[in-house]
Amino acid sequence: MDMYSQSLHYGYAVFEGIRSYKTVSGKTRIFKPVEHFDRLRESALALNMPYPYDRDELIQATYDLLAANQLNDAYIRPLIYAPANMSFAQNTESHIVIEVWEMQPFLGEKLLRVMRSTFQRPNPKGFKIHAKAAGHYVNSILASQEAKANGFDEALLEDMNGNIAEGPGANIFFEKDGHLFTPAGGNILMGITRATVLEICKELDITVTEKICTYNELKKADAAFFCGTAAEVIGWSSIDEYEFPATWSNTISARIQSAYKQRVIEDEKTEKSIAAIQNIEKMTEIAR
Ligand code: PMP
Repeated sequence: MDMYSQSLHYGYAVFEGIRSYKTVSGKTRIFKPVEHFDRLRESALALNMPYPYDRDELIQATYDLLAANQLNDAYIRPLIYAPANMSFAQNTESHIVIEVWEMQPFLGEKLLRVMRSTFQRPNPKGFKIHAKAAGHYVNSILASQEAKANGFDEALLEDMNGNIAEGPGANIFFEKDGHLFTPAGGNILMGITRATVLEICKELDITVTEKICTYNELKKADAAFFCGTAAEVIGWSSIDEYEFPATWSNTISARIQSAYKQRVIEDEKTEKSIAAIQNIEKMTEIAR
């Protein structure tokens, strides 16, 4: 990267966080690559960055990179950055780098002690918050460091209206009386894992409500979890001084966690054949 890039000086860059897994049959499979590379494009366009890249080529390049580095369970980080330009003017070109490395679950595998952050998420009127822009992560870093400095594992941030929003790098769900709740879109990054959790809920007949959620509601919940590509699905033991009363392994949140673990290591064919079976079932129903 050029030392005079707006990306370095102003955080003007966009990126993705993707994972690949070794599937049950031993193949390397990138989880939801289309969704991630489409979001990368949308993030770049939201920031007025030129985006001359082809999605399928990027996916193929990522597979080649994983193979060249002999990685299957990996974290994948494409970053679009700006050329030399110290003004605020728009650029006529962009650069891309894709980095891959082995990474354990981002927030570990133990239940988390979470702290209500004193930092709010960026105001959607000040930032394109649906974009995964590098500069937004100064907010994430501040919140996460504050939580750790206070002896917690991770932060929970509220939005500009004081409703609960998300973690520094993950979305949140909480469980009450067998139902799940998650903050609605608008003031959060719409996570691809969040969408996967919603799909899993549908398949497992778990009811989930997307709505404005408050800190007080969270403090009456039975259980809660973070979900994100890097974090995967990870439960909480507490928020501030409130300990979640349900035993994690008995919660529907834990069922979602194991369904997610299973889903990411499925072979593509398995997924397709499940879809095919569901289609056949639908057609049989129509025929009836
Ligand atoms: N919110 C924030 C602020 C994030 O950085 C992330 C990680 N990209 C998420 C939510 C979860 O998004 P995803 O499931 O697409 O990784």
